[in-house]
This record gives sequence, C-alpha cells and structure tokens, in this order.
Amino acid sequence: MVSRPRHSFTRKPNLADVKAAGHDMLRLVNRRILLNILSDRQPISRAEIAKISGLNKATISTITGELLKDSCIVEEGSGRTTPIGGKPPTPLRLNSKRFGLFGVDIRADETILALSDFNNRIVARVSYETGADATVFLQKIGKEIRKLRVKYDSFIEFPGIGVSLPGLVDNHSGKFLLSVVLPWRDVPVVQLLEKSTDLPVIIDNSARCSALAEIWHGKAQYAHVRNLLYVAVSTGLACGVVIDGGLYRGGNNTAGQFGHIPIDLNGNECRCGQRGCWDLYASDKATLKRYGELRGTSGKRITVMRKLIELVEGGDAAATEAVRETARYLGIGITGLINGLDPEVVVIGGEITKVWGVIEPIIVEETKRNLLAPRSNGIPIRPSAFEVRPSLKGALTLVQNSLLSVPHMG
Ligand SMILES: [Zn+2]
Repeated sequence: MVSRPRHSFTRKPNLADVKAAGHDMLRLVNRRILLNILSDRQPISRAEIAKISGLNKATISTITGELLKDSCIVEEGSGRTTPIGGKPPTPLRLNSKRFGLFGVDIRADETILALSDFNNRIVARVSYETGADATVFLQKIGKEIRKLRVKYDSFIEFPGIGVSLPGLVDNHSGKFLLSVVLPWRDVPVVQLLEKSTDLPVIIDNSARCSALAEIWHGKAQYAHVRNLLYVAVSTGLACGVVIDGGLYRGGNNTAGQFGHIPIDLNGNECRCGQRGCWDLYASDKATLKRYGELRGTSGKRITVMRKLIELVEGGDAAATEAVRETARYLGIGITGLINGLDPEVVVIGGEITKVWGVIEPIIVEETKRNLLAPRSNGIPIRPSAFEVRPSLKGALTLVQNSLLSVPHMG
C-alpha cells in the first residue's frame, strides 16, 4: 500500500535565509494566528478561539495572557455574572489604541495621508496636491506625519508607514523607480521618509497594494480566497497577484506589469518598446483616446476618465461604445491571465468599474469564450470592494501585514 503524506507542504526551504521552526518562531506564528482570529471574529471567547485554531485551552490562555499584558487585546465587560451567579466567558477584542498605522497613497494628482487604528478604522485623513519635486514633497508628508503623531498621542505605538506609489517600485532598495504618470525617478522614498519621521517605511506599487487590501479586507466572500488577481485600470494597466495568501513580487520586485504583454503584434508602438501591448487597448488612456476617435468633431473633448464615466451614466452613445470596447479588451487580457494563473477570484479596480453594469457582461462573455479549463468559467470577476481609493487601504494594509502576517518557516 502506498503511504501518502498527511500534509500538503510544497515549499522548498530557503537555505539562504533559514528560519527554522524554533520555539520563538512557533510562539510568533501562534500569536499572529490568534490576532487574526480576533480581528476577524471579535468579540470572541478563549473557548471559541481554541475551537477555531485547534490549539489547546492552556496554550490559548498563555498567549492571550501575553497579549493582554502587551495591551494588544482587551477583555470586554469583565466582571459580569450570569443570572445563576457563574462567571460567563469573557470575550476578547483587539485593543484599537495599541497601534496607529500610517498609510500614504501617492497618485499623480493627489496624495492622501491617513491614520488608522488597530481595528482598521481611519481616524485622520488629509489630502494634498502631489508635488513634482519628490524630496520636497516627501519632507512635507513627513512633517504632517510628525504632527499627527503628536495630535493622536493616545496610540501606544506607531509601527510604521505604508506607501502606495503609481509606478515601478523596488521594495528591497526602498526606491520608487519610475512612472508614466509622475515625473519622479529613482526616488529613495523609504530613506527620505524614515529620516524625516523616524518610523519604519514600507513601499509598494499601487496595483499590488490594492491586491493586498482585497485579500486582507475584501468582501466576505473572499475571506477564504488564497489566490487572487487584481487588475488596476488607470492611466496605465497594472496587476497585483496574490499567491497562497501572499503578494507575488518576483525576482526583481517588479512583478505585475501584465499591461505590457502584447496582444497585437501589428499594433501601435508602446512606451515600453514593444508593439500592441494590452495597456494600449484597455487602460483609461486607451478608453479616452477611443472616445475621441468615436466622437469625431462632435461632442465634448474629454481628458479625465471620471468625466467620461459621467457621460456613460448619462447615456452618451460614443462614450458607452468606448467603454464597451475597453471591456472587450479587458476580457481578452484577463482570459489569458486566468489561463496562466488560475486565480480563485479576479478583482478589477478603477473608475471604469463605476459602470460595472455596462462592462461586466462583456468581460464575462469574452472570458467564457476563451478559457482553457472548463471549470475556469466559474471564476468570479468582481469590482473592487473599496469604492474609494483601494490603494489607500492597501498602503495601510502594508503596515498591518507586517504585524499580522505569518512568516514562511524554513
Ligand atoms: Zn508596453
């Protein structure tokens, strides 16, 4: 008889950065699993945590004791008694004041700085016009963060700042490399912000930040999703890929630029040097260009996607056709990515999702026609769970991720 392994481990250990499963590591992992259960199900009793986690009651009691001592969690309504005089189980909650998380969502036109508590409630939000001089602008943001720290001094700790950036990001070197929408080049964002705030800074590209926000905070139906594809439709087209619960960043930290897969070898030349990239057909820039061509000499000249969407909502024929054509191209590209990645859900973000009723049937029809695996037809394609700035939620999630994610062991 063949003896089959009872587990489903598949990762090759990383011998260049060994993290053996010692006692400290196990303690950290269990502690974070408990914090995740609390975040998801609070208020929750120790007995319920034991049931969900599979850990025994003594271990739960030890870890919750440590978390209480560390002010990470609080007991809710302690001291109550039941009608027959017994002590009811004391539910536990995350202590929202334990951590104040900073998120900075930098876009070409506008930057938003937000402070959220440990329960993901935004307590402060300020917006600025994004400056062309990166150093001057980041120093200004740093100063604002210092002010917010003083104003919200009831937080026990500020563990860091998450920054979402609209372009190529190398989060090893901490640099923002380049962007087509912002004139910043090789900007040491991490170094500049850390120097001015004295807090750890984590950066990532906005599509990947948005993907992270979806896997951590997306709608309830995604709660058990481990593999997700996020398609950010903006001036350009970029993707974020979540594999087994973690962001895929690639060997050089630039993964996700699927917008530069050619879909027409005879197409127009792209800024990346190739011809007929997906980006040239399905980005906001492409939709606006198409509308201009369809409109001809009649109608208004539109350069902002929000305005074009308003026209679609008002029933404008050329604007609707421009968006429908973009939906077809989105469907074509997404089909290829579903065939290659087999995600459990595809999430689309951007202004274009405001007319979801117009684009969804076309995207679904395109994908149904060309998917390889019959089962792939059932893969849900959804608009982002966050109507306003998924990338801001993502910037905050970068910091939360550093507090609640579990490490790869080995
Ligand atoms: Zn290209």
